[in-house]
Amino acid sequence: MMKEKEFPILNDNKNLIYLDSAATSQKPRQVINAIEEFYRSYNANIHRGVYDLSVTATEKYEKSKEVIAKFINADKEEIIFTSGATESINLLSSTLPELFKKKNEIVITEMEHHSNLVPWQQASIKFDMKLKYIQITRDYTLDYQQAESIITDRTAIVSIVHTSNAIGTINDIERIIKIAKKYGAIAVIDAAQSASRQKIDVKKLNCDFLVFSGHKMYGPMGIGVLYGKKQILEKMRPFKFGGDMINRVSLYETSFADTPMRFEAGTQNVGGAIGLAEAIKFIEKIGIENIAKHEKDLTDYAIKKLDSIKSIEIYKPKNQSSIISFNIKNIHSHDVAQILNDYNICIRVGHHCCMPLMNKLNIPGTAKVSFGIYNNKKDIDRLINTLKKIEKIFNKNERN
Ligand code: PMP
Repeated sequence: MMKEKEFPILNDNKNLIYLDSAATSQKPRQVINAIEEFYRSYNANIHRGVYDLSVTATEKYEKSKEVIAKFINADKEEIIFTSGATESINLLSSTLPELFKKKNEIVITEMEHHSNLVPWQQASIKFDMKLKYIQITRDYTLDYQQAESIITDRTAIVSIVHTSNAIGTINDIERIIKIAKKYGAIAVIDAAQSASRQKIDVKKLNCDFLVFSGHKMYGPMGIGVLYGKKQILEKMRPFKFGGDMINRVSLYETSFADTPMRFEAGTQNVGGAIGLAEAIKFIEKIGIENIAKHEKDLTDYAIKKLDSIKSIEIYKPKNQSSIISFNIKNIHSHDVAQILNDYNICIRVGHHCCMPLMNKLNIPGTAKVSFGIYNNKKDIDRLINTLKKIEKIFNKNERN
């Protein structure tokens, strides 16, 4: 799929091989143009302006919400703009526990990004709740049987990642949501890594909340989404206080606006919202199934080629997204990435904001490649050839 031309950063740097889309994707021209158009042509603050510029900005902002709602089959009132998946989860972890009196357990998994771990850990301390973990098995998959045993009628919230950013496992979220629902627990899905490559239908899934970030799906940084079922959002207290989220304010009392506005305090990232809606249009133009297929082909190809490197260990789950984590024997992953950088190849190394997962795997970190719509097999060939060179240099002594 020849999409590189649509991405100025790749078009301007023909030699660049970007294999770090799990951290953030590159941005297509159409998204950059939409953001630029907002700032050039109709930049104004939204909602309270009666002049044309403000009316246009408000309309575009509201329209962006409609695009996002439709993308995940939600209603517009169920979409809250945040700064990203992290803020969406912080909103939930600081407000949801207040809704429970008797249920006092939170269940997450060992493969969560720190964004879906630290907020719940802190909530469990603040609200005196018990935090439980669904473990991962030796094949980098969730232990669903253990999940059945730890989710009980004491469980208030189950929050799990759809696709692991560190090892690429695609979790059976339908199965976990069903278990959560059986016990009347709230189900939260972290779709940061899946929103750009897997069709998500929140009504079919029957999750209560779902979060994602714009910048990992060809949209801008600083904008993200919290989807929530309206009847639960209506019961939740606001997360931040200030302008735009109120109904009436007097010196000692405030009544809050209805959802979703009560969760959107202060000036919003209007350009970001418009950019994210444009990114969704970009995804829909290509077809999310085509993106998934393209990335799966690349992943299968890359795994096959990586396997030909003798001293490699790939942390490969059965149901894998377009993220591959690996280590090469005797070479620190930071050295691998540093040398690849000399060849203009961008990969990510370290714990990938998943320290508990790395501890479980008994490794300090991994080298990780992840794909986007703009990658092709030539990128992988160059990666493999360079990795082979690196391996030869470092492991020369061992072979002699
Ligand atoms: N969850 C997952 C699975 C992620 O990969 C990330 C980002 N790496 C996040 C949450 C947090 O996203 P953000 O930093 O955009 O808030």
